[in-house]
Amino acid sequence: MNDVMGNRISIDADAINRMLDEKIEIKLLLSNCVSCGLCSGTCFYYKKTKDPESTPSFKALNSMGLLFRKKGKISPKDLDRMKSLIWGKCVLCGQCRCPIGVSIPSIIAWARAICRSQGVCENYADSPMGA
Ligand code: SF4
Ligand code: SF4
Repeated sequence: MNDVMGNRISIDADAINRMLDEKIEIKLLLSNCVSCGLCSGTCFYYKKTKDPESTPSFKALNSMGLLFRKKGKISPKDLDRMKSLIWGKCVLCGQCRCPIGVSIPSIIAWARAICRSQGVCENYADSPMGA
């Protein structure tokens, strides 16, 4: 929730937890990640930037993984950092592959939905491609 100046004044951890409960299978999927790094080789964004924070597993573990670890009790700074990862470093192209079936795009898509529920989302009008 934001004040009239657009500053964040609260985060609804109960609402976040309800959304986490809807996708509890993601918690299991993330616990299966063995940090092998194979998915990195299939992410065009990582291959182009070599930014360690743009590997698919890093983005998943530091968005939905973070929300599960903190049981929804995240800070505004956590939300802003998540935003930069899941919008700024992923386009949901679906190209990443995980041999044990961790679905990074679906994980990041749900992390975006949770961010939106807290009033945080990409403002495409501010991007160079925006209107
Ligand atoms: S390929 Fe799968 S198990 Fe390996 S780091 Fe990526 S998400 Fe984790
Ligand atoms: S969906 Fe995201 S993480 Fe997967 S290949 Fe595309 S940009 Fe990379």
